[in-house]
Amino acid sequence: MDKIVSLCRRRGFIYPSSEIYGGLSSCWDYGHLGVELKRNIKQAWWQAVVQERDDIVGLDTSILMHPEVWAASGHLEGFVDPLVECKSCHLRWRSDDLEDSNCPSCGGELTEPRLFNLMFKTFMGPVEEEANIVYLRPETAQGMFVNFQNVLNTTRKKLPFGIAQIGKAFRNEITTGNFIFRSREFEQMEIEFFVKPGTDEEWFNYWLEERLNWYVKLGIKRENLQLRQHLKGELAHYARACFDINYLFPMGWAELEGIANRGDFDLVQHAKYSGKSLSYFDEETKEQITPYIIEPSAGVDRSALAFLCDAYDEEPDKEEIRVLLHLHPSLAPIKVAVLPLSKRENLVAVAKQIYTDLRQCWMVQYDDAQSVGRRYRRQDEIGTPFCVTVDFQSLEDNQVTIRERDTMNQIRVSVSELKATLQAKLEGEDLFILPPGGKIWKEEKRGV
Ligand code: ATP
Repeated sequence: MDKIVSLCRRRGFIYPSSEIYGGLSSCWDYGHLGVELKRNIKQAWWQAVVQERDDIVGLDTSILMHPEVWAASGHLEGFVDPLVECKSCHLRWRSDDLEDSNCPSCGGELTEPRLFNLMFKTFMGPVEEEANIVYLRPETAQGMFVNFQNVLNTTRKKLPFGIAQIGKAFRNEITTGNFIFRSREFEQMEIEFFVKPGTDEEWFNYWLEERLNWYVKLGIKRENLQLRQHLKGELAHYARACFDINYLFPMGWAELEGIANRGDFDLVQHAKYSGKSLSYFDEETKEQITPYIIEPSAGVDRSALAFLCDAYDEEPDKEEIRVLLHLHPSLAPIKVAVLPLSKRENLVAVAKQIYTDLRQCWMVQYDDAQSVGRRYRRQDEIGTPFCVTVDFQSLEDNQVTIRERDTMNQIRVSVSELKATLQAKLEGEDLFILPPGGKIWKEEKRGV
């Protein structure tokens, strides 16, 4: 984990929040490359669950919601952790995390457990009084439940159908740590999939497989993923069944995504608390029914960490070590780097023109500092799949070199074929399939 944290910081993926003031515990800021990585993860998720499907629609609800939402959902009562406090150093601990009956920090005596609500409270309007309390949402899900009728009426969807949402969630976590794995402010990608009761098990199994495959398709090694079923005693109050998709993080197996069969709990509760009907008219049986909900709930930050850990690699390279991220091209923050062999004016002019042209399609970096070998290493370390090198021969034959990150193989193609070639390679075409007039160009020395 230290290597990932250090790379993220050194290369501008992730910084501690408010660092110049000493940081704010368990809050993180995403730099240029981190923002791109997260945007790509969210885009890949949205494409898979909304863009390419007929049965799921998008939604973006507000973070602040009516306080009754949290009474109905059970969060006011149930979203609590039992906490103990050390009588000497006053540190607080989750009592269910402790193996010992004394304080893990100083060995002091601990108090009896007290329940602590994980929701952040704030006040709406100018007066800080009990009646004005609102909460920062601890999950995006409730926004989708309370909009069930709106979505149904405006999209005319029939069961089974789903709603998808990506957004921030906040939890006043007690035990934090492990970098962005558990933070107090994070992003979720959640689907609420509404189905006819009786078909819920089938859909539950469908979503388990679908979601597991999503990670594999985006490059996570299958052996680093496992499904873990929640045992009866550990199921949340609303859940009929739940599986975690666990990933083998550097600190061990831990939850990446939770998939729950929530039954009719949420719609029944919100109908009861709001007094509004949240039922669905089943045209086959001519009956009003309350749909069951299957919920695949993933974290953007945890996914980013899993993709980074899985992609991280070190290879011996002459006397040095080549650090590289084997990120899937669709997740890589920068898709192509344009590297002129030297800073000579005539080379720079060609390279800059290529750069201007390619950046209309993708996030592209231009780098002319230090040797080409060093520049390749810098791109390897941030997971850039392709580098385009412009050399003196390019001025004569109008061809450039494309160098691939993982194999370090190179091909030579004409500038007029460059964009289409890169497009095909980024979509997974073999590097050695050459466009008309292209040549294979083998490296003489590794990486140079
Ligand atoms: P955990 O048991 O690790 O606390 P959870 O079971 O409470 O997680 P869920 O409520 O199922 O988590 O939330 C769905 C997803 O949201 C999680 O699988 C995770 O990816 C993400 N998530 C939840 N809490 C956090 C957090 N504090 N920091 C980052 N991501 C989180």
